[in-house]
Order: sequence, then C-alpha cells, then structure tokens
Amino acid sequence: MTAARIVVAGSLNADLTIYCDRLPLPGETLHGHGFAVNPGGKSANQAVAAARLGGDVTLLGAVGQDPNGDMLVASTGGAGVDVSHVRRVTEPTGVAVISVEDSGENSIIISAGANGTLSPAAMVPALFTGAGVVCLCLEVPLDTVQAAAQAGHDTGATVLLNLSPYAPVPDALALLTDVLLVNAHEGSQFLGGFQLPVSDSPAIAWHDVLEEFARHGLSQVLLTLGAHGSVVLDSTNFAEPVVRIAPTKVDAVDTTGAGDAFTGAVAARLAAGDTLAEAARYASVAAALAATKRGTQAAYPSVAQVAAQL
Ligand code: ATP
Repeated sequence: MTAARIVVAGSLNADLTIYCDRLPLPGETLHGHGFAVNPGGKSANQAVAAARLGGDVTLLGAVGQDPNGDMLVASTGGAGVDVSHVRRVTEPTGVAVISVEDSGENSIIISAGANGTLSPAAMVPALFTGAGVVCLCLEVPLDTVQAAAQAGHDTGATVLLNLSPYAPVPDALALLTDVLLVNAHEGSQFLGGFQLPVSDSPAIAWHDVLEEFARHGLSQVLLTLGAHGSVVLDSTNFAEPVVRIAPTKVDAVDTTGAGDAFTGAVAARLAAGDTLAEAARYASVAAALAATKRGTQAAYPSVAQVAAQL
C-alpha cells in the first residue's frame, strides 16, 4: 500500500537556546555556559519527524526573509519535506527563546513573528486534495487552524490536533478533530478541572478518562506521559478502547521536542495505514530515540533506527 500524503500546517521557529546552571529569578542576570541556534517550531519539527520516517509531507507555513527563515527552509526541505508552500513574508521568522538548566528543566518564550501572519486564506483547499492525514498545532492563529482542519476534513483526511501550546478549543474545531494529541497538563486543561494522571499504573481508571474526553466531543485521544509512556483512548474501538503503551527504555539526554517526534511519527504511520494503536506504539519508540540526542529535528530517527529498536 502506498502511504497517503501528509499535510502539516503551522509553525516554524528558530530555537535560540542558552544552557545554564539554573534558571534566573525575575530581575536576575546569570552567566550561561553554551548557546545554540537550531531549527524548531512544532509544525516544522512534526513535519521533519514524519518525513524521516518515510512520510510524503507538505508543510504549509510562513517564515521571514531573514537568515532564520533560510535555516528553517533548508532544514525542513533537507529532510525531504515539500516546502514550496512555506511563504517568505516581511515579518521576522518566529523565535523561541529557550533557557535550559543543567537539571533539564527549561523555560521558553515564543515570539510568533511570521507564524502570526499565516492566515485562513493560506489554507487553500486544493493544497489538501488527496491528503490522508492533516497535522495541526496551536502555534499559529486559531482561525487558521480551524480553516486547515476544515480543508482536511472536507478532503476526507484524518485530522490530528496537537493541543500545544494549550488554548481553549472552540466546539467547531473539536468537531473537525479526529485525533487529539495531548500531554497530561494540556489534557487536564482541555477537560476543565478533570485532573489527568501524569503517570500510568494498572490502578488508573482509563475508561473514565476516555468517557470524559468523549463527553467533550473527542473519541480518539493520544495522551503522552513523558518517560511514563502513553495511552491510547479510542471509543471507536469497541474491542480495545484503552491501550497502555509502556515507555521504550532509553538513556534520555534531552526530551525537548519528544512530543513533536511522537506526533510526526503518528502522522507517518497513520498515513501508511496503521491503526491508531499501532501508530502510537511505533511513535513511542521514535520519540524515545529522539530523546537520546540533544536538540529536536537533528535528533529525530530514521525508519532503520526505529526498526532496530522495535
Ligand atoms: P515536548 O513538549 O517537550 O515535546 P510533550 O509533553 O508534548 O513534550 P511528552 O509526553 O514529554 O510530550 O513525550 C512524548 C512521548 O515521548 C512520550 O509519550 C514517550 O513515548 C516519549 N518519551 C518522552 N520522554 C521519554 C523518556 N525519558 N524515555 C522514553 N520515552 C520518552
């Protein structure tokens, strides 16, 4: 079976990362011990992760006419992503200013820049024709996400929404979402007061969680739990609505962007014809491997590297 096309619509950012012993307090200035500029942005990362894993990926986004924009087009295009619909606009390329302390704890501020110019009008329905999977996140304007979800839905694609960074989801967008990807923090915010567990154990009533998501209009949810693995909650799968996926044991050195590796891998495997649970199992391995190297896109594994771990 030939894999279906994947359309990723959303953000590209330059990650400006400074490493330090500890994060500064308000008003404090500290010496860091290392600085790096790397390609990032959730959608760019997800597109690269999917392409590395064999996906036929088109990225819809916007960057500035600046060196950061050049870097992002080169990194995503170099990974095999079709970047012919990444617009070059007059606003500067989006940036994420990231501080990482030695413990691994980080703090991040994002300036949307060019990402903020990605308008609903850029989500031209013809660009979605024939797509099997559409992959979205919330680093671009919500009405643009809505337009992309509508275009994906209209063409019969499976619409994935990674609810990050968290924002309330309008009912109209929830209706168009086939699979929601969240971590425990985002999932709890989405459910408005229903506190999700941050780790897994057989004692957890995952069926109650599944019902809670279904009450909010989401029948298929992938809940990621960092080093604790992930859970597939699928009320359309009557035989096995809850699948708990144990983490792949690795020596993690940098988990930044593991969530994007997971989402991109899910997109690639759904496009290749996997079930949701099969795709999540594969993604769990891909994301764990991504955590074994520093950085995001440069750390994403190939098909052969995942196969060696499966
Ligand atoms: P981020 O925003 O930093 O990209 P996230 O919160 O969206 O992350 P996580 O839940 O931290 O996503 O991680 C996604 C998936 O990556 C997990 O479900 C798991 O499969 C894998 N993963 C993350 N950290 C580890 C780890 N230390 N060991 C093994 N697998 C990991």
